[in-house]
Amino acid sequence: MKKKVTKVPKFKDFKTTRATSSALEKILYKQIPILDHGFIRVIDYMGTDQSIVQAARVSYGEGTKKLREDRGLIRYLLSHWHTTPFEMCEIKFHIKLPIFVARQWIRHRTANVNEYSARYSVLDKEFYVPEMDQLGSQSTTNKQGRSNTLDKKFAKQAQDLIQKNSEQLYDDYQNLLNGKLLNNDEYVEGEGLARELARTTLPLNYYTQWYWKVDLHNLMHFLRLRADSHAQYEIQIYAEKMVEILKKWVPLTYEAFEDYRSDSFQLSKEAMKIVKDKLANKKIKKSNYKLSPRELRELEIKFNIKLS
Ligand SMILES: Cc1cc2nc3c(=O)[nH]c(=O)nc-3n(C[C@H](O)[C@H](O)[C@H](O)COP(=O)(O)OP(=O)(O)OC[C@H]3O[C@@H](n4cnc5c(N)ncnc54)[C@H](O)[C@@H]3O)c2cc1C
Repeated sequence: MKKKVTKVPKFKDFKTTRATSSALEKILYKQIPILDHGFIRVIDYMGTDQSIVQAARVSYGEGTKKLREDRGLIRYLLSHWHTTPFEMCEIKFHIKLPIFVARQWIRHRTANVNEYSARYSVLDKEFYVPEMDQLGSQSTTNKQGRSNTLDKKFAKQAQDLIQKNSEQLYDDYQNLLNGKLLNNDEYVEGEGLARELARTTLPLNYYTQWYWKVDLHNLMHFLRLRADSHAQYEIQIYAEKMVEILKKWVPLTYEAFEDYRSDSFQLSKEAMKIVKDKLANKKIKKSNYKLSPRELRELEIKFNIKLS
């Protein structure tokens, strides 16, 4: 009798009973370009809005009629910091990003990372050069930020310098790897330096790549901080693309995230007092409230009010 061979199912023949997002399926594996050489692409994911609702119902049971409505339940969970149902969903990205962006990114410890090894492989000649309109001066109000775009002529020179240095340092990297060093206009040949040390000549604008897997709760924490206008432009632009992905993946959670996290503002007890007094048409005197000048300024900006 002929031995039966198990047929490997083709992916398209495969029907799954798992929760899937058709909008996210459409962009799986597709590169979304970012900056001059970077990209982001979704490799895999687990769960959808329904998985959050399903997990929450384990703790709430069927609940009230109101709670049974998915959108209402998700908004309730997010606004009351009942965060564990969001941890039931996960997403895995492949990201190509400049090393200085990766340094900020890696501070988010609640993800799983696997990075390209420059000990094992040679880095490509790919480095980030900011566009002219990104070449801003040092901000005087925010020590960590940039301000107005530099004068055009100076910006061009700065851009050229970044380009030239990055190229020069890549040549040095290659020469170290190949054991070919310039000494008084003459090449001295020797054994190539190990990749793990030769890479130390490269600057922070060189690109690295990694796989980054995170659950939805921690992804939203990352996006809350990095899609914010205070984050550095070069990480912000990645986070903004990820917010678009979030919208495709879990639209109800995305809506609640926008409302309760990214577009919201936390009021302290003292700030609440000011808001309440203002609504009651009471006279506001800044010195009567225990808020720092910075806190008062932020409150004025957020509510578009002037406090005396
Ligand atoms: C605008 C901006 C400017 C910044 N400037 C600087 C800077 O100048 N210098 C600098 O060093 N960093 C800076 N950071 C990084 C910042 O301090 C955080 O390290 C980073 O945003 C990661 O946040 P996180 O720890 O909440 O995230 P995650 O590491 O993802 O952690 C998520 C949450 O898990 C919990 N958690 C995780 N690990 C631990 C732990 N070991 N112990 C207790 N709780 C834990 C915490 O509640 C934490 O909020 C900056 C960040 C931003 C957004």
